[in-house]
Amino acid sequence: MAILSTNQQEIVDRIDAGAAAGMWRDWRWQVQNAITDISTFERLLGVSFDQDDRKALEGTVSRFPLRITPYYLSLIDAKDIWNDPIFMQCFPSPAELQVEPDDMEDPLAEDADHPAPCITHRYPDRVLFLVSNVCAMYCRHCTRKRKVGDIDSIPSEAEIIESLDYIRENPRVRDVLLSGGDPFMLPDDYLDWILTELDDIEHVEVVRIGTRVPVVLPYRVTKELTAMLARHHPLWVNTHFNHPAEITASSTEALARLADAGIPLGNQSVLLAGVNDCPRIMKTLVQKLVRNRIRPYYLYQCDLSEGLTHFRTPVSKGIEIIENLIGHTSGFAVPTYVIDAPGGAGKIPVMPQYLISWATNKVVLRNFEGVITTYREPDSYEPVWCDRKCATCRQYLRLEGADESRAIGIVKLLSDEDPTTALVPEHTERFERRHDS
Ligand SMILES: *Cc1c(COP(=O)(O)O)cnc(C)c1O
Repeated sequence: MAILSTNQQEIVDRIDAGAAAGMWRDWRWQVQNAITDISTFERLLGVSFDQDDRKALEGTVSRFPLRITPYYLSLIDAKDIWNDPIFMQCFPSPAELQVEPDDMEDPLAEDADHPAPCITHRYPDRVLFLVSNVCAMYCRHCTRKRKVGDIDSIPSEAEIIESLDYIRENPRVRDVLLSGGDPFMLPDDYLDWILTELDDIEHVEVVRIGTRVPVVLPYRVTKELTAMLARHHPLWVNTHFNHPAEITASSTEALARLADAGIPLGNQSVLLAGVNDCPRIMKTLVQKLVRNRIRPYYLYQCDLSEGLTHFRTPVSKGIEIIENLIGHTSGFAVPTYVIDAPGGAGKIPVMPQYLISWATNKVVLRNFEGVITTYREPDSYEPVWCDRKCATCRQYLRLEGADESRAIGIVKLLSDEDPTTALVPEHTERFERRHDS
């Protein structure tokens, strides 16, 4: 018999006075009773908004829909909603309708790098595969706000098959990242089918699932789901916890199930003004994550998607948070802070500076305490000239048919045998003049 917190019991009673407390842990009940309008929110939480506020809120909801699970709702402190990090992540704000000049519908150009219906192929060896348009809850800070909740964006089975074909036909894809929407909102057997199809593609070495289910609907992580997932190793799962208050007894249980199934867990947080833009909050979060066997993976600078203005912080805030983590806590508890750059440039890591200066054979470094120190480089290092022909190199590497012959990006500039000395954007005025003359 489930024992519910006072908050949870009150919410159950308000949803359905006759409902058994046991329903709470039934994820389908949670989905069926998701809160999708302001009045229900008021009734279930015992709060009320005045007429003007309500009008502004309803304006927001008509552009960016509202959806909150009763579970996530129960984590809100009803006595102090305006400062509550849970409330801020799930409840609409009229500020979402403010669009700044630099805001974009699709800032990451996911729709441009788009060779198959549900695929974004940006990096050489891995693809993003959007398998679901459904989420248990709509995060107010969602970068794919344009798509989520839009029935026209639900991927059909035919589109999934076409996307699987793309992966099958591209042997360089060795890592497939399932996202959405939330892949865990798909029925077990449908997700099982997609994972089985991917298992059968020989060049796909690893599959990852990005999900917020352990945060907003932990009861979805059933024994049946984890048993199914465990049949598809190597499978990695990335969750999305943003605040320590999201790590509860229920989410802890869901995470333990996933970890016990042998699934390596990572976490991607988004830096959000008023929610987690504080070094102490982030330190508490990452320490709680590692206690739950989750490795903090990325901390994202908030994207330039429309409707997120009020969540954005300066980049300095992220650097300050990383400064407060490196050296101060376990190395594996420190995420990589990244800016997912507009225009499809992808994730760019940003760090505090540790390398202070550099002369021939000597590096000056500083540590987290402010100690300034030096590292003496070897005088005798003999670089091996590399023509990227590994078969004739004295260093031992069996390539086993992998194609590693082409250097791209900055690696190309660093390479010994490629004559390229600069990477220059194509469409500058200077270069157009060259073509004209
Ligand atoms: C984030 C992302 C990936 C995965 O990047 P990793 O740095 O390997 O986690 C792949 N494709 C797209 C389009 C992405 O946005």
